[in-house]
Formats: sequence, C-alpha cells, structure tokens
Amino acid sequence: MTEQQSRRLAEESRETEWTRPSFGRELYAGRFRLDLIHPHPEPSAEERGRGDAYLKKLETFLKTEVDPLQIEADAKIPDRVVKGLAELGAFGMNVAEEYGGVGLSQTYYNRALALANSTHAALGALLSAHQSIGVPKPLKYFGTKEQKERYLPRVARGEISAFLLTEPDVGSDPARMSTTAVPSRDGKEYVLNGLKLWITNGSVATVSIVMATVPKSDRKPHGITAFIVESDVPGFSVERRNQFMGIRGIENALIRLDNVRVPAENVIGEVGRGLKIALVTLNTGRLSLPATNASTAKGALQYAREYANERVQWGRPIGKHDAIAQKLAFIAATTYAMDAVVELSSALADQERNDIRIEAAIAKLWVSEMAWLVTDEMIQIRGGRGYETAASLKARGERPVPAEQMLRDLRVARIFEGSSEIMRLFIAREAVDMHLKVAGALADPNAGTGEKGRAAAKAAGFYARWFPALTLGKGHVPGGYGEFGDLATHLRYVERTARKLARNTFYALNRWQAKLEYRQAFLGRVVDIGCELYAMSAACVRARMLATEEARELADAFCRQSRLRTQRLFTELWENEDTRNYKLAQDVLGGRYTFVEAGIVDPSGGGPMIPDTAREGQEAEVPRRRRRAS
Ligand SMILES: Cc1cc2nc3c(=O)[nH]c(=O)nc-3n(C[C@H](O)[C@H](O)[C@H](O)COP(=O)(O)OP(=O)(O)OC[C@H]3O[C@@H](n4cnc5c(N)ncnc54)[C@H](O)[C@@H]3O)c2cc1C
Repeated sequence: MTEQQSRRLAEESRETEWTRPSFGRELYAGRFRLDLIHPHPEPSAEERGRGDAYLKKLETFLKTEVDPLQIEADAKIPDRVVKGLAELGAFGMNVAEEYGGVGLSQTYYNRALALANSTHAALGALLSAHQSIGVPKPLKYFGTKEQKERYLPRVARGEISAFLLTEPDVGSDPARMSTTAVPSRDGKEYVLNGLKLWITNGSVATVSIVMATVPKSDRKPHGITAFIVESDVPGFSVERRNQFMGIRGIENALIRLDNVRVPAENVIGEVGRGLKIALVTLNTGRLSLPATNASTAKGALQYAREYANERVQWGRPIGKHDAIAQKLAFIAATTYAMDAVVELSSALADQERNDIRIEAAIAKLWVSEMAWLVTDEMIQIRGGRGYETAASLKARGERPVPAEQMLRDLRVARIFEGSSEIMRLFIAREAVDMHLKVAGALADPNAGTGEKGRAAAKAAGFYARWFPALTLGKGHVPGGYGEFGDLATHLRYVERTARKLARNTFYALNRWQAKLEYRQAFLGRVVDIGCELYAMSAACVRARMLATEEARELADAFCRQSRLRTQRLFTELWENEDTRNYKLAQDVLGGRYTFVEAGIVDPSGGGPMIPDTAREGQEAEVPRRRRRAS
C-alpha cells in the first residue's frame, strides 16, 4: 500500500458522527484534555443491572460446566460447552436485543470476555473472534436492514462466525490481497477464489465475513470488498485445522475458496470499501484483546501473590526477598493500570461520541506488551512450578495453576489484530498526522494560491497560533488538579510531558521531514511515551472514581514506575544506536554474519520459509480468465 493510499484509508475510517475529539490524539498533539476522560464515564443503572446479572450467570456456568484442563488436554472445547454458551446467549452478548442478542455495552461485553478467557483462552478466542471481528460487528456498522435481520439473529443464537482476511502472502499489509471476487455477467453474484490462512473459528463457523478483491474492469467499482459467505456453499472448504504455541482448543483453519458463488446482496457496504470496513470494525473490535490480556494479568497477580506468600526459601517467604518484592510491586501496579486502560477505553467507546481509534490502539498495544511482562514475572516468581504444566502439577497432587499456559496463550496478542509494530505505525500516523500535515504544507513551496495553498496557509496559521505554547511553555498555566489529592502531581507530569512529547515530535519532523516515516524506532518511542501518559491518566482517573485508599496507592505506584519508563524513553529518543543497528541488520540480511549461526542443527530441515505450495490456488480465477481472453 502506498503512503497516499494508506493515509486516505486512515481518513476514511474516521466516522463523522463523533462529537468529541480523541483524548489520545490530543495528548500526542501536546494537549492534556482531562475533561475528555474525567469524570470517568460510568454505565447507567439499567446497563449495570443487566450487565451484572449476565456476568453472574456466565461466571456460574464457567465455574460449574467448564473443565479448563480438559480443553487443554484435548485441544478442543467440548460441544456441550459451546451449546451451553449458546443457550446463555454468549454468542450474542454484543448483538442488539432487537436481533435476539443480549445487548451488552462494550464495557460489560469486555468483562464477560475476561471471565471466559480467564477460564481458558480458547473460550475467549471463540467468543471474541465471533463477535469482535466476525459477522456481528461489520453488520452492526455497515449491514443493510435485510442483512441484519437475516444474519444477526442466527449468530446471536449460537451460529459461529469468522473473519477471513489473512492469506499466506498477506498479513499486515492486506492491500496486496490476492483472493478475487469476480462479478458474473448479470451482476447478480460474485465468484470467489483464494486461500485464507489462520482463520479463528474457521473450522466451526457456519457463516463468515470474507475479504476479496473485485478486479478492475470497465469503469465498475472494484477493489477489496467484504462479503457474507455461508460455509456450506460449494467450493468453501476447510483444508486443515492449525495448531499453535498456545490457545489449544482454538478452532483455527486454512480455508480454500474454489469458485464460491456469493449473491451480490451479500456484499457488505459498497464494492471496494472492504478495507474501510475492516478498519472501522477493528476500531472498537480490538478492545476485546486488551480486556482478555488484562484478565490474564489479573490471574498472574493472584498466583504471584499467593505463591510469594507461601513459598519459603532462605528462611523467609520469597515475597520478602527484595528481588521478588520488586516484581510483585510491578505486577500489582501494572495490572491495576491495565484494568484502568481497558475500562476507560471501553467506557469511552460506550459513549459513542468520542473518536476512540487511538485509545483502542493504545490499549491493544500497551496492554498486550505489559501483560506479557507481567505474566513472565509471575512465572519467574513461581520458579520451577511456573514452568511446569497444570496437568503435571495436578498429577503430582498440587494445585493445577496454568502459569506456563498463560504465557503461551498470551504470546499471540502481540501479533494478531494488528501486531505491535503495526499498531505503533498506526498510532504514529494518526498522532503525528497533524504535525506531518503542517510540516508538509510549510515545506511545500509549490502549494500556490489554490485550494492546496489555502489549506497550507490555514494549517500553518493554526500551527503558529498554538505551537509557541508547546515550544516554549510560555503563557501556559498548568492545571492544579487539586481534587486528585496526591495524584495531582502525576497529572501535572502528564500535562508537561505531553507538551514535551509534541515538541520532540515537531523537532524530529523538522529534522527528518518526510523521512521521519522511516524512523520507526524513533516513532515507536514517541508512541510508547504516549501510551505511558495515557495509562497514567487512566490510572489516576479510575482511582478518583473508585475513591479508595488502595486504588490511590496503586495509581501512585504505577505513575512512579511509568514515569521512570517514560524518562528512559525520552533519553533514548536522541541517544540511541538506531542508525548503526539498521545498517547492521542489513548486513545480517545479506549473510555477512552467518558464521555466528555455526555449530547447531536445524531441526526444520532448511528450504524456503514460505514455499510456493503454500500459496497454491490463490489466484485461480483471474489467470484463467486472462487466458481465455487472450
Ligand atoms: C492464532 C492466530 C489467529 C488469527 N486469527 C485470524 C483471523 O481470525 N482472521 C484473519 O484474517 N487473520 C487471523 N490471523 C492472522 C493475523 O492477523 C496475522 O498473523 C497478522 O496480521 C500478522 O500477519 P503475518 O503473521 O503475516 O505477519 P507479517 O505481516 O508477515 O509480519 C511479520 C513481522 O513483521 C512486522 N512488520 C510487518 N510489516 C511491517 C512494517 N511495515 N513495519 C514494521 N514491521 C512490520 C510485523 O509486525 C511482524 O512482527 C491469526 C493469526 C494467528 C497466529
């Protein structure tokens, strides 16, 4: 995808009905708009009543009807569990009541996913792939009335759905998709051909969202398009079920589409708008992942606490040894902040008036990265018992704590639904966009006096008005935040540091101009600083809402830890080895240092990493047509 294309796409994914700016975007622009998140939005009494009652039912079911060790042993969720979940309405938690769903808000839906995921990650994957990216979400935003009436009651009742985007050659960059959807002569249907990889729920779904490219022909609309596809149509086949490092029990498949005929009325939105649909779906859809990741961190905190209390070495509980105590402090404070980030972002999504793309992306990126660190530290605290499987612990008569499984299950969170690297690029683009636009306009001597010139002048004028405050800090009176008590000092820090971040970003833009885009390590640190600032804000605002001494203490501890990380990141913005490392990496790619790899056996047997056979059949329809035409 070219820079221009991806920018246009990002623009398009901005929904117009938002009436309030994004808190996260404002932070990156140097403005700390506490009013956008404080007081912390809370659910209505009606929503709370419905949500809490549902969570209670779900929790009882999970505790009494699900055996997580069995799922892990069989790598399969038993049919009776899936049936039980369907009876509870768990496949329609996030579907509106008018279509037979439970109608939970994003906040309660996320809490329900957290319950399911903490029982076994395969349950979290099943329910969230179905509802966060499967049929319900894109239909909610883009479906016609007929599509909603036809499919939403089915998926709410328990028919499982999936989302088919990835292909063997197409991961983070979906614009290069090779699955095709060729319209029939009469325009009444499309013929789909291609291969879709790693599709969660793919082996059990009865209906799916499929992304395919409508080829260019005449002047008709073309491009990546979203289709609703039934799994029982001829040519739709599950080639195999994939297995992974973690989430045993996930129903993930390689799916072939071989001349699959789909009626034109199953196009979602418009032809050529598929990527926009995927982006908008993920804007809130990706909030499920931090919710489930935070649930793992909560389990890690509990297991770390219990073990560090009980386990005695060198005459003291290990939690009294400083090295372990430091880890416990990190786990507790960070888990509190993860919860704060998930709850705040979900509550903002529920308000449906905020642009929350940045907050959702920050939540996904930051929580998945921190949950990994937290869970890894929990394993270290449990020592050998951290590395032993739950089944093995049980067989020896010990409590079956799934510590190693939690780490394995978590790992993919940094890869799918936007890898950490892609999330950083996404946030950087969104966040730095305003700086970029202005820098581009200021640097463009050919803007002229037309539309482009007027836009440039407007942007430059706007920038000139507020940028002095950023650069010099003059004329700016920091907020007092007295109502936050001791935590006010952290909010003042966030406010100051947001301005400092914007200054640094602007300086980098001046220095590298359009080439800043290639400074991914630099931009990554800018994004990570913003994540820490968002997490600190969420931690303080949540503590204020909870109004307990314990929450205040954890928010304070978290902010102190986070400030240290932030300071390190600022230092590394300008003191780093990025340029040398980039060059070194190119030499690594060129094979200059292969001598270091000597002395090992390659158990994979060698050969290409992605053989041509893995791509087989991807472009079946288009070449055949081309052949006929010639
Ligand atoms: C368990 C599991 C479940 C999944 N479920 C689904 C599903 O339901 N539906 C679906 O469609 N897909 C699904 N996927 C696919 C998933 O979305 C992709 O794995 C993900 O998009 C990353 O693509 P990739 O693996 O091809 O990595 P690649 O895109 O090849 O990336 C490899 C590495 O390079 C980095 N990278 C790539 N581009 C850049 C760049 N421009 N700058 C810097 N770094 C870059 C990435 O961050 C990553 O670290 C699933 C995958 C897994 C493992």
